[in-house]
This record gives sequence, C-alpha cells and structure tokens, in this order.
Amino acid sequence: YPIIVWFREDFRLSDNAALSAAVEKGHPVLCVFVLDAAAFPGGAARWWLDGALRALDAALRTHGGALHVLRGSAARLIPELAQCSGAAAVHWNRRYDPGGRAVDASLKGTLRQMGVAGHSFAGALLHEPWTVRTRTGTPFQMFTPFWRAACAVGGPRPPLPAPSGFSFAEWPESFGENRVVAAGFGLLPVAPDWAAGLREEWTPGETAAQDGLTRFVTEDLAAYGRARDIPAAEGTSRLSPYLRFGHITPAQVRQAVLESGQEGTKFLAEIGWREFAWSLLFEHEDLTRRNLRSAFDALPWRTDPAGLRAWQAGRTGYPLVDAGMRQLWRTGWMHNRVRMVVASFLVKHLLIDWRQGEAWFADTLVDHDPASNPMNWQWNAGTGVDAAPFFRIMNPLLQSEKFDPEGDYIRRWVPELADVPAGMIHAPWAADAGALGACGVVLGRDYPAPIVDHRQARARALAAWTALRKE
Ligand code: FAD
Repeated sequence: YPIIVWFREDFRLSDNAALSAAVEKGHPVLCVFVLDAAAFPGGAARWWLDGALRALDAALRTHGGALHVLRGSAARLIPELAQCSGAAAVHWNRRYDPGGRAVDASLKGTLRQMGVAGHSFAGALLHEPWTVRTRTGTPFQMFTPFWRAACAVGGPRPPLPAPSGFSFAEWPESFGENRVVAAGFGLLPVAPDWAAGLREEWTPGETAAQDGLTRFVTEDLAAYGRARDIPAAEGTSRLSPYLRFGHITPAQVRQAVLESGQEGTKFLAEIGWREFAWSLLFEHEDLTRRNLRSAFDALPWRTDPAGLRAWQAGRTGYPLVDAGMRQLWRTGWMHNRVRMVVASFLVKHLLIDWRQGEAWFADTLVDHDPASNPMNWQWNAGTGVDAAPFFRIMNPLLQSEKFDPEGDYIRRWVPELADVPAGMIHAPWAADAGALGACGVVLGRDYPAPIVDHRQARARALAAWTALRKE
C-alpha cells in the first residue's frame, strides 16, 4: 500500500517529517501537490510557486520519482486519490493559516471515514503555536515575553536529513493520467511579462535555500547586527521566500547559526518574529482584515486612489520610499528597513488604510507570508498588539539620511537620480534647481515633486489620531 505525501508549503526533501516518516515505514510513496485556485497566492508568489514545483519535481526525479501536480479542490482530490491508489495513509506537514487548517481538519475526518490514516507533522515553525503560552495558558500579546518563553521551551527536535532509500508508487491508472498537470501550471504571467526581475534575482528551490543559508552564516552573520538596517549593504539573509515556501525550515536555520559558534541572538530573534506572527494569526484568524486595537476602527482613512497609485509605482517624490517600492516591483522583495518606511508613509503620510498596503504587498512580495505581512502592517500602523504607537511618525527624509547616507540604495533603484550627489539625493525638492539640473534632473519632469508635504502630512495624521483618542 502506498503512502501519499501531500506537499503544500514544504518544498524540500530534508527536514521534512511527513516525507521521512512515509519513507521510513518502507511503503512506496506517491508525492502530490494540489493546485487549488481557491488558495492561490498573489502574483509574485505564484511565480515562485511555479519554480518551487519544478525544483521539487527535479529533486524527486534524482531519486527515481516525481511530483504529481493535480488541479482542483484538495478536499475532493486527496480522498479520491487515496481510494484509487489503495493508499494506507496520507502524510502532510501542518500549516497554520485559517483556510488551510479548515481544509486539513475536514480532510482528516473524510479519510478516517474511509479507513485511511491522515497523519500530520510539524516543521514549519520552531514551536507549535499553541505550545508557547503565558503562565495562565493564554497567548502572548507582546513579542519580548513570547520569545523569552519560546527560548525557554527549548529547541525543536534536530532537523532531519533527507531520506534515502526511496521507493515510489506507480501512478494509479484508475485515477486517470490525464488529471495530472504535466506542462504549464498556469502560474506565470503571460503578457506583459513582469517577472524578468524576479528571474534575475531568485532561484526557487531547496538547493538555493541551503546555499543561501551557508553563504549568510559564513559571510554575513557576524556583521548582521550592524548591517541589517542598511539597505545598500545587503547584510540580511534573504531567506524569507525560502522560509515562506518551506524550502528550508527555521530549525535548519537555527541549527546552522548555533553550529557556526557565532553570536546569533539578534538574527534568531528575527526568526522569533516570524514565530510570533504565526502565533498571532493562530489566535486572530482575521489578522489581515481587523484592527487588533479596535479603537482604530474609527480612524478616518482617506480615499486617495492617485496617492495609492503613486506609492505603488514608486513615484511619491520621496526617494527612499520610491526606491523601496521599485525594488519591490522589480524583484518581489524589499529590505526590511525600507518596508517599515514605506508602510509608515502610506499609513501616516497618506492616511491610507493599512489593509490597502497589505494587499499590495501580498500581490507583489515573493515572500508574502499570511502571518508576517499583516502583523508587520499592523505593527507599523499602530493598530496591532505589540505595535509602534501611531503618533510615532517616521520622517522619510531622516530615515534616508540615516540608513542610506551615501544614497547608494536610492541610486540603484531610482536611476533618474543616479547622478545626484549624496548632499541632494535625499530631498531633491529642497535642492537648488540649477544644481539639480546640472545632474540631469528637473523636478516634476524627470522625477516627481513630493506628493505630500512632510510637515502637513504629519500634522494631519496627528490630528486624526488626537480626534480618535478624544472619541
Ligand atoms: P533577515 O533579516 O535575514 O531575517 C531572517 C528571517 O527572519 C526572515 O527571512 C524572516 O523569515 C524572519 N523575519 C525577519 N524580520 C521579520 C519580521 N519583522 N517579521 C516577521 N518575520 C521576520 N516578512 C515575510 O517573510 N513575509 C512578509 O510578507 C512580510 N511582510 C512585511 C511587511 C511589512 C510592512 C514589514 C515592515 C515587514 C514585513 N516582513 C515580511 C518582515 C521582514 O521585512 C522580512 O522578513 C525580511 O525583510 C526578509 O528579509 P531577510 O530574509 O533578508 O531577513
């Protein structure tokens, strides 16, 4: 009897408990993925998913197997496949988003009725979300005590090696060979092809993830604490899409850091933020939709389609904001410091509802994560639990001068400012028009004038907040 291994967000062979347990039992395995349009990610993450499917299939082929990709509803297809193949069990690694959990719970019931075991395994997080709790058993509301408690729980089990001695089951004829999606998965952009920058920047897959981890630990971990806030330095791991798609597990990342013998507290705390985000989503299924601080429900967000479009296109006239938004559009990723600046700009300078920014990130980030994205947006907007207060309004100019002092990051992503020296690049609107013109820039022609004035925007945001407090 075969065991079906149902891959979802765990595109790897190593540290894959569902796969290892199936192989260890000595049964032939049937590796499947279900393309379920109801659960499709945003555009950039769909591009990544295509690469993830191909990379996993190639990895399984080196062991003599393959990944069978089906299209439709998993709740219907997995039991059907279990029936046709005479499977003894279905294995999967747990996911923690509300939609996924609902499908998995109902599927377990369906399989039980059929007499097929449904086994789920851990791996996407260091700790299961329900295991890190306060003394009274309630979920944590603040990151610091959460992470302290998580560290006190101890590490997860050591990461598993990739299994060896695979045996693969034949595809069940009665299920129909034609139901397997063989060629294109329909995930890539057709026209226009906006994915060129993604292709240049990224290689989805487990091998690239492991290489990236090794490179980061040997070259960048030591300086992480200093370099992580400088967008031009590229001093962070860039592991986020690999963690998002489960090409690598947080347990593997943690082990590599600990084994390197280097100081990794700051870096591992970032992995801790990811854990915290998932524990929040586990408790608040509507994290993407609802202000965790309901007082903010009364905040008079502005309807400003032109402002939203300028922000999305990287044409706000604030060079650091524009550089970040263009990096996002081109590569599907943005440096964390700049994510904070652009989020604050949208929510406070433009007074646009954070959910519109969250939705844009969801569509454009290759690392879009259903927990980290809304948690960080709510953190920056001040509407979340452990959040920056609303009245703390980031000044995009000061952020630019502090974190991109030479303007290197801006020049890379805003090429029309490539010849502008550091003294003028952070605030071209304040520069002498003649001097700016000598660098090939006429404001309003080559690069936009600011769409809002910082001082006025700040005053408007604070007034909205003060009115909210009075209410
Ligand atoms: P590193 O600094 O190398 O950190 C290592 C890992 O820790 C990351 O890969 C990530 O998994 C985790 N991590 C780091 N910072 C955070 C954080 N603040 N919150 C949660 N996890 C973190 N991260 C996502 O993975 N997906 C998202 O959709 C996402 N949306 C964001 C939206 C906003 C508005 C902001 C401000 C941040 C968002 N982040 C998101 C968090 C963070 O910006 C990225 O995880 C980080 O930039 C990824 O780069 P890295 O892998 O080089 O990070």
